[in-house]
Amino acid sequence: MKTFDDLDSWSEVRRTAIAPGARVGFVPTMGALHAGHASLLERARRECDVVVLSIFINPTQFDNREDLTGYPRTPGADLAWAEKLGVDYAILPDESRIYPDGYRYQIGEKELSRELCGAHRPGHFDGVLTVVMKLLNIVRPHRAYFGEKDAQQLELVQGMVAAFFMDIEIVSCPTLREEDGLAMSSRNARLSPEARRAARLFPELLLSALPGGEVARRLEEKGFKVDYIADRGDRRYGAVHIGGVRLIDNVRR
Ligand code: AMP
Repeated sequence: MKTFDDLDSWSEVRRTAIAPGARVGFVPTMGALHAGHASLLERARRECDVVVLSIFINPTQFDNREDLTGYPRTPGADLAWAEKLGVDYAILPDESRIYPDGYRYQIGEKELSRELCGAHRPGHFDGVLTVVMKLLNIVRPHRAYFGEKDAQQLELVQGMVAAFFMDIEIVSCPTLREEDGLAMSSRNARLSPEARRAARLFPELLLSALPGGEVARRLEEKGFKVDYIADRGDRRYGAVHIGGVRLIDNVRR
């Protein structure tokens, strides 16, 4: 596995070392890799000739400074795991390399990005779409893998790729869960043992047949702060805070 923090060196490799006919699979992440990330990388490994991982904690998608500074960072373990999973190239750029424009140029979406998580985290999806556009242009993959765990993000990325006629297949991958049902997330590492025990109630109640309002009420009763519980199509979406950590999830019903 080759690792890059410098995008010029990466671009040179992309141009000269990857055969024009090779299928390139890309998994963008913010690091602190867990088995959910690994499942995307494994799928990319099965389906593509070349696998590229990016690790970049994107500041423009954080609306809360403490969430950004406290975001888990485990680059050494991430790279060791990525190598074991057969990743060919890992890109770990810093902020100045991704935002030479100082975030003057942005990708936005005017409807879905303002609902659900977008209604509670102003500007979040502009940051997500902008960084995903940049990373897709840097990596130039044939396929990019995204998790259903972040279903609103996935839908917005699919919409962006279609809207801008980008020749990239967006592959949607199922959510991996802990044994008690909690969706795997890098932020789970920040849960206290007590909050971690309580957290299992979140997927359990999302999956229940109770109306959304009742789910929210029961979660609040158990100490959660609820951003939203919302039914859209055949999915129920939720975002909550427990012990100072924000968790999101969605389930098909
Ligand atoms: P993140 O590092 O949290 O930005 O996530 C990077 C990618 O991994 C995104 O496409 C996520 O949707 C995906 N991902 C995160 N958690 C899970 C999970 N539990 N199962 C499957 N994919 C996930």
